Amino acid sequence: MLDEFIRQLPLYAPPLSRISQIQWEDLHTAADGEAFRIVASRPGCAAMMLTADIATCQLCLDELADSADRRYRYPFGNCTHCGPRLSIIRRLPYDRNQTSMAGFPLCPACEREYRNPADRRFHAQAIACPACGPRVWLEDGHGDMEAGRDPITVAAGLIRQGYIIAVKGLGGFNLVCDAGNQNAVLRLRDRKQRMAKPFAIMARDSAILAEYVQIDEQARQLLAGQSAPIVLLNKQGRALASAVAPHHLTLGCILPYTPLHHLLLQNLDAPIVFTSGNRGAEPQAVENGNARQSLAGLADYWLMHDRDIVIRLDDSVLQIMDGQPRLLRRSRGYAPLPMPLPPGFPAAAPILAMGAALKNTFCLLKDGQAILSPHIGDLENAETQSDYRRMLDWFQALFHFQPQHIAVDMHPGYLSTQFGREWAAKQGLPVTAVQHHHAHIAACMAEHGLPLESPPVLGVAMDGLGMGEAGQFWGGEFFEVDYRQYRRLAAFHPIAMPGGVQAIRQPWRNCYAHLQHYFDWPVLSRRYAGLDIMRFLDSRPLVILDTMLAKNLNSPVSSSCGRCLDAFAAALGVCAASIDYEAQAAIELEALAAPVFRQQKANAYRHENIGDSVLPLLGWRPFWQAMLNDLQRGVAKADIAARIHHGLANAIAETADGLADQIGCRIVILSGGVFQNRLLLEEVSRQLRSAGKIPLSPAGIPCHDGGLALGQGIIVAGRLAG
Ligand code: ZN
Ligand code: ZN
Ligand code: FE
Repeated sequence: MLDEFIRQLPLYAPPLSRISQIQWEDLHTAADGEAFRIVASRPGCAAMMLTADIATCQLCLDELADSADRRYRYPFGNCTHCGPRLSIIRRLPYDRNQTSMAGFPLCPACEREYRNPADRRFHAQAIACPACGPRVWLEDGHGDMEAGRDPITVAAGLIRQGYIIAVKGLGGFNLVCDAGNQNAVLRLRDRKQRMAKPFAIMARDSAILAEYVQIDEQARQLLAGQSAPIVLLNKQGRALASAVAPHHLTLGCILPYTPLHHLLLQNLDAPIVFTSGNRGAEPQAVENGNARQSLAGLADYWLMHDRDIVIRLDDSVLQIMDGQPRLLRRSRGYAPLPMPLPPGFPAAAPILAMGAALKNTFCLLKDGQAILSPHIGDLENAETQSDYRRMLDWFQALFHFQPQHIAVDMHPGYLSTQFGREWAAKQGLPVTAVQHHHAHIAACMAEHGLPLESPPVLGVAMDGLGMGEAGQFWGGEFFEVDYRQYRRLAAFHPIAMPGGVQAIRQPWRNCYAHLQHYFDWPVLSRRYAGLDIMRFLDSRPLVILDTMLAKNLNSPVSSSCGRCLDAFAAALGVCAASIDYEAQAAIELEALAAPVFRQQKANAYRHENIGDSVLPLLGWRPFWQAMLNDLQRGVAKADIAARIHHGLANAIAETADGLADQIGCRIVILSGGVFQNRLLLEEVSRQLRSAGKIPLSPAGIPCHDGGLALGQGIIVAGRLAG
């Protein structure tokens, strides 16, 4: 009987369950007449295991559409196969009274389902129905209710009329409007103070999306999958309002993932803009009172409900690159699923890794597992900082996590570094500063399960900026690397960033710094006087920059690939003056290059190998020379952008290939934020493969700073392992 039970358990386990271990023992007490029962969870025994929030399942959708069902058109239906999880949990173990459903006592009908082992709502902690569960309503900013009419139908009508609605979803508020209505989209941009960064769109089903973007079977499955992420897909076919994603080849697409979203989209035959409900750089609103205040002036109406969101979860974002879906933002539907540590890592002392400054996540390592927090955001904003602290407290309590060791970035200015150091000092814990790009590479090694004691591999970190050694910023690095240490084998030629942070926001500064470094400026500016970029640079305060560069004032040197891309983009007039969001210049340069990328392969620009035998450097003088000549000859900017991408890809792949041979390894790790660039990632990977190498890049975690904390943690775990 027991054998049969154990045999059948994995076969009939609910779709979302994971069986980590089955243990049994013989009990010599005959429990006379006692029926099978599920024993209540004991506090404190919660392992590091918790399901992510899951998109509404087909069975629940069928009920939603069935007028005879008691959950017909009920916006909060869910079951053991689907529904909210992390977003509603106050404490573990995951029982209803520990969630934000605690305030909704079960009605007799729900109680019966909950108690019935044959029901798919057996022990569904978030179970709800119209009689006992949360409800939805519409407000117009003065607290007025749309009494007597179905609020979701009214909201859909308002969207069609061009209004902007704040919709309370699963992990936060979203702002939505008609994506075909240019005025509505522009009004949303204006109110949100978000001028250029693309908006995602939501449509009722993938057939509607297919009118606007290219969807293959892989994309269709991701969109309709249980994590329901935003998937970046190439625009194709009909156009939406141009303000939705200006200068972008792709559109972020998402399908409804809660009954409320399904009902809202039911009567909308075109996509809606679906963006986070926040102002500027603030985090997305989650609480009703706060949403009324912070979204006043942004939304015309609020579609509210009374189930509390315990923790903010943004929509996850992924893109299919080099054949694999790759997460660019890891949050709802993915966090907090744990990752097993690679072979060889002992179940080390608990480690807390604090992450970076932008796109922050933190990471807990415990019991042979790593748990990466959901995407938190840029720690430049006071609201995001307090969110970071709140999330840290909550995760610690949730997982009964007491760190014995803290890992931080080497950058002393990151809030995450400062906070980690303060914490360590207060608790008397050791703290380790980990080099930024070593962490990028190690995170990718861990994701791919490279064992602790495997021989060193070649790590290629192409990044925006990260603190290197000797006060330099890095971001175009080639390392010999294992989990414990790294050796820098080559790098992009370091160039000054006049103005420091200003040089990140204003790409023309990098452009000038490059040209001024590689050429005699007076000669160059006369020779290419007719070029737009020269006229533009002449209109800038170059004398001040010259002084800064000559006296080394606020002009830190950086070997960053991201800054190189900024400089090249500026030369083509792409975001030369300033950018509106991180990496905008590089992203728009890629969009310019992509349509003609294949045709321009033979015209790639060439770099040159400079530096010395201690540290070979990749220099860009001939690269610039060829680009300026092309500009002078009036070559199309798209062609030039493609030649830039080929040139960079060749430089990276050739260097990596040579260095891998030199250290005798086949595995080449590609990571860092620049590898969000699809052209570069795919071309570098392709070339390395044809040279017999094994390129590995992040997929389940972001390649940018959102994946950094895993690397920080794993490096400390590696060092502690001796
Ligand atoms: Zn369901
Ligand atoms: Zn009920
Ligand atoms: Fe980075």
